[in-house]
Amino acid sequence: MFKMDSHIHSEYSPDSSSKIDDILKVAAKRNIDIIAISDHNTVDGTSEVLKKTRNTDILAIPSIEISSSHGHILGFGCEENIPRDLSPEDTIDRIHDLGGLAIIPHPYCFYRHGLLHNYKEKLNIDAIETRNARFIVGYCNNKAKNLSIKENLPALGASDAHYYKFVGDCYSLIDCEKDVDNVLKSISKGKTEAKGKGTSNIKLSKYLFEKNFLKKFD
Ligand SMILES: [Zn+2]
Ligand SMILES: [Zn+2]
Repeated sequence: MFKMDSHIHSEYSPDSSSKIDDILKVAAKRNIDIIAISDHNTVDGTSEVLKKTRNTDILAIPSIEISSSHGHILGFGCEENIPRDLSPEDTIDRIHDLGGLAIIPHPYCFYRHGLLHNYKEKLNIDAIETRNARFIVGYCNNKAKNLSIKENLPALGASDAHYYKFVGDCYSLIDCEKDVDNVLKSISKGKTEAKGKGTSNIKLSKYLFEKNFLKKFD
């Protein structure tokens, strides 16, 4: 079994300033074996992490978080950009054409572009996040977990960290060999378990303090 954090943002996302090197340090410290930089609408972070993890113990999976017309979709395994604002169906087709898996992150989070919150068509998706570290309490994750059980959809845990210290706050245990193709296959077969306690309010407060308030009171 390996520990995988499949949804991490880096400085290539407009809403994160995390350096890939810092993300890798925290991942190593927290014994995360497999990571994916899933930046908003760009694979630049993925390209960097693939280079930096060559010949290291950490396996990086290419990934991108695409803003479809109705919500976010991860192109997991995709090394190329996919245009934003396509329909969910077209976005998913593009992901599959590139050999990737279409994973729905935070599916029911209505204020963070959760796709399944407002899109009711049947979609050809491969997996969903049932433990997104930013919504560990309550409705969003519970509803996703229920869907995964009802539809027999593979379930993943992920940090969705926009700050490197939150990497690994949720993760998946995955039964696989440590190579990209095998990881994708194992997810498809549902050989994953969503784990982790999520990002605590204390940790979030410290982050806000570091980001905003520290300078003011120096
Ligand atoms: Zn998102
Ligand atoms: Zn995200």
